[in-house]
Amino acid sequence: MTIHGKSQVTTWTGEAEPHRRSFAEIGNRATRLAGALREQLGVQQSEAVATLMWNNAEHVEAYFAIPSMGAVLHTLNLRLPPEQLVFIVNHAADRVVLVNGTLLPLLAPLLPHLPTVEHVVVSGIGDRSALDGLNVQVHEYEELLAGSSDSFDWPELDERQAAAMCYTSGTTGDPKGVVFSHRSVYLHSMQVNMAESMGLTDRDTTLVVVPQFHVNAWGLPHATFMTGINMLMPDRFLQPAPLAEMIEREKPTHAAAVPTIWQGLLAEVTANPRDLTSMKQVTIGGSACPPALMEAYDKLGVRVCHAWGMTETSPLGTMAHPPAGLSAEEEWPYRITQGRFPAGVEARLVGPNGDLLPWDGESAGELEVRGNWIASSYYGGAAGEPFRPEDKFSADGWLKTGDVGVISADGFLTLTDRAKDVIKSGGEWISSVDLENALMAHPEVAEAAVVAVPDDKWGERPLATVVLKEGATVNYTGLRDFLARTVAKWQLPERWTFIEAVPKTSVGKFDKKVIRKQYADGALDVTKLD
Ligand code: AMP
Repeated sequence: MTIHGKSQVTTWTGEAEPHRRSFAEIGNRATRLAGALREQLGVQQSEAVATLMWNNAEHVEAYFAIPSMGAVLHTLNLRLPPEQLVFIVNHAADRVVLVNGTLLPLLAPLLPHLPTVEHVVVSGIGDRSALDGLNVQVHEYEELLAGSSDSFDWPELDERQAAAMCYTSGTTGDPKGVVFSHRSVYLHSMQVNMAESMGLTDRDTTLVVVPQFHVNAWGLPHATFMTGINMLMPDRFLQPAPLAEMIEREKPTHAAAVPTIWQGLLAEVTANPRDLTSMKQVTIGGSACPPALMEAYDKLGVRVCHAWGMTETSPLGTMAHPPAGLSAEEEWPYRITQGRFPAGVEARLVGPNGDLLPWDGESAGELEVRGNWIASSYYGGAAGEPFRPEDKFSADGWLKTGDVGVISADGFLTLTDRAKDVIKSGGEWISSVDLENALMAHPEVAEAAVVAVPDDKWGERPLATVVLKEGATVNYTGLRDFLARTVAKWQLPERWTFIEAVPKTSVGKFDKKVIRKQYADGALDVTKLD
C-alpha cells in the first residue's frame, strides 16, 4: 500500500464516472476500519467477521483490515438460498456483518434467524429502513471510519493463524467451511503472480468479475496488492451489457470469471460489437471452458487461459499455458486442457480400486492433490474441531477432489467429469463434459448441459438439455447428426429437450442436480429418438 500506493481500485457505479480509490487510500481506510472494529465493535483475535458484499473498494478494505488485525474474513455468498446463508452464519457464529446497502433486502429478513449477529455495518447506497426494528446495532461504514484513528497497533501474527474463510456451495449436505491461513494466502498469491499463472504487474488492470465471495475472487485481491496490479471492480453490474461497457471504457488487460459470464458477454458483443482487445489474457475456470468459447474469444483478439481449482485449493490448481516453442495449431490441444500443475501443487490419480495410475494421458482416475495452499480439513464451526470426511481427505493428507480425468506425461490435466456427473452406461463411462463441449460447438447452440438419467437397459444414459440461440432452426435429429461427427455412436444421447436456460449454481456453474430432479419429477418435455 506504500510501495504501490498509486495503483487503483476502480469500482463501477453505473453512473457517468466510476469510483476510483488508490491503494494508499485503501490502506489508510483499512487501518481505520480495523481500529473501528476493535475499539467500537469489540472484535477479538480469531473472531470471524462476515462480509455480504459485491466486488468493490470497501470489500477490498475489509480483505486487509480483518485478517491483518488477527480476525478472520468470512465472505458470504450472496447467491446462496436463505437457509444455507442462515446455516453458515450460525455455524461460524458471526457477530459482525459488513454489508453493502444494496444487499439489505437480502440480509434483513435473515437477521431474526441469526442470533449471534449483534452489529451490522452498512456501506454505500441503499435504503436502510429494512433494518428498522431489528435486534441489531446498525452502523454506517463511513461514520465508523471517520471516527477512527489512522494508525493501528497491528499485532504480530502466527503465519499459520486463520486469515479468511469461505464455505463451499454445498451441492450435497450442509455447506463446509474452508479456512485459509496467512501462510497459505501469501504462498497462493505468489503463485498467482508467477508468469506461469496469471503473471500480472502494476502495468496491468484486472477486471475481477469472479466474486470476492467465490474463493477470495481466486486470490486476485491479495495478488494485486502484492505487485500493484490495478483492479476494476464491477460491484453489482455483472450483466453482459455493463461488463462490455466497462471493458471498452476502462481497458483492463486481464479478467477472471466462470464460463457462463463469458458466454453472456460473447452473445452481447455479437449483437452489439464492443472492443475487448485491451484484454491480453483472460482466465476462465470454475467449470470446464468449452473449446468453442475459447475459439470465439480468440477470434475477438482475446486469449483465454483455462484454469482449474476448487474452494479447497484456494483455488489455484492448474493453468493451461502451453509449453514454449509451439505453433498456434500445436498449442491448441494444450490450451483446452485444464492445465499444468505449478510446483506448489502435488498431484496424483487414483483408480477405482485405489491403485495409483500413470501419467500417460490415457489412464483415467480421481484426481487427488496436496500442498501449501490446499486444505487438509474442514472448519468445525465456532464451537467444534476441524473434521476430515473420508470421502474428501485421505489419511496421508491428500484432498480427494471428486474430479475424474487424465494427466499427460508433462503434467497437463484433462478432466473428463465430476465423479458424480459421469454417465455410467452399460459398464462404460460417458463424459457429460465431452458431450456438452461437442454440442456447444454447434453454431445454433447457446448452452447445453448433459446429465445421466436412469435407463432400463443400460443402467444410465445421457439426457441432452439444450438452449438454442435466437432464430435457430436445428432439431434434435440435426443435433444428434452433428454430434455423430465427433462422438462415438454408443455415446450419442437418445433423450433430448430444449430448455430456456441451464439452471446455475450460486457461482454460475451448471446445476446438474436441478436438471436431474426436473427429469425425475417429469418436469421436462423430453423427446426420445430411435
Ligand atoms: P468450487 O469449490 O465451488 O469452486 O468447485 C470446484 C469444482 O469446480 C471442481 O472440483 C471442479 O469440479 C469444478 N471446476 C473448476 N474449474 C474447472 C475447470 N476448469 N474444468 C472443469 N471443472 C472445473
